[in-house]
Amino acid sequence: MRHPEPHIFHLTPETLGDWCAQRKWPKFRAKQILEWVYEKGVADPHAMSNLAKRERDQLAAEMTFLSGDTLSHQSASDGTQKLLIQWTDAGTSPLPIVGQSANDPARQTECVMIPSLDRTPGGTPTRRTACISSQVGCPVGCKFCASGLGGLDGNLSAGRIVEQVWRLARLPGVERISNIVFMGMGEPLANFASVIHAVRTIAAPWGMGIGARKITISTVGLPKAIERLAEELELPVTLALSLHAPNDDLRRKLIPWSSYTTIEELLGACRKWFDKTGREITLEYILLGGVNDRPQHAEELAEVASTLRANVNLIRYNEVEGMPFERPATGDVRRFQEILTQRGVNAHIRASRGRDIAAACGQLRHESNKAESGA
Ligand code: SF4
Repeated sequence: MRHPEPHIFHLTPETLGDWCAQRKWPKFRAKQILEWVYEKGVADPHAMSNLAKRERDQLAAEMTFLSGDTLSHQSASDGTQKLLIQWTDAGTSPLPIVGQSANDPARQTECVMIPSLDRTPGGTPTRRTACISSQVGCPVGCKFCASGLGGLDGNLSAGRIVEQVWRLARLPGVERISNIVFMGMGEPLANFASVIHAVRTIAAPWGMGIGARKITISTVGLPKAIERLAEELELPVTLALSLHAPNDDLRRKLIPWSSYTTIEELLGACRKWFDKTGREITLEYILLGGVNDRPQHAEELAEVASTLRANVNLIRYNEVEGMPFERPATGDVRRFQEILTQRGVNAHIRASRGRDIAAACGQLRHESNKAESGA
């Protein structure tokens, strides 16, 4: 099915205002439409009761509101919820999403809503984090990640990135999303223009209204793109560097894309980021049992981290069927953290969430793909 252009989640007050002006609608219509979508959570133009009937019909015929279909919605026992979304045409993607059939996994991405374990006295999670995708598939090909298995199938448009947040905000029990992480499928800095357009909409008071400081862009590291982000994005977002190994040899074995750069070059770009933005970097480090979780790796990582203003997030690997990596032992994770802390590095162990719903990145799409192919 082909959707009409434009896609509402791609528009700003200015571009929607121009669209309305071309149709000779009153000036305030753009504001009203955006209020319906972002404040009231309504994506059906027929329900926008303060618009004229003729305008509602025209909106429905000439603009796309929801450009994806939810193929699956899973809820884990810890409150994590995950969506597998099927994008039904190329839409406004700068690089068309490939795939022929309506159920082609090459058109699917995942997004996850993760409530924090801390609760207010009333029992409400203190944080709700939306983990969203920026591409369909991923070009980076990390050896431990299901998203990288089939390579890159296309970029998501800015509108489709925002649509994921909007959908997650409307899941049962979610009153408000407080944090955004670009840690789903894809390398955000390889889809630069769409990601920064989406970040502006997510942070805008007229859009999702989520403070830029609560938005984290996570990258495996493209030094030039990190510098460009510091220059071009006026918003104080957080940058997370997915390091995953403390030396180039091991990193290149785990992350094929890292053969294009060195850790030293990445650290140089991160220092420029700090100089320009004044914001500390988060180093993400996924612990793989017996591979990068040994004490000597912790010592090396401490050396790397000490050259930056950085925090380290340690993530315990969630096993993916068919992948040759194991979840690290609890004792090894603690020892790793202790070594970092003793060396003066601020290191946190990130809790694994949603383990009972295949919440590791790309796992749901991978399983849908296997089911489609009968594997
Ligand atoms: S971990 Fe991230 S960067 Fe690596 S293949 Fe998966 S989605 Fe891509």
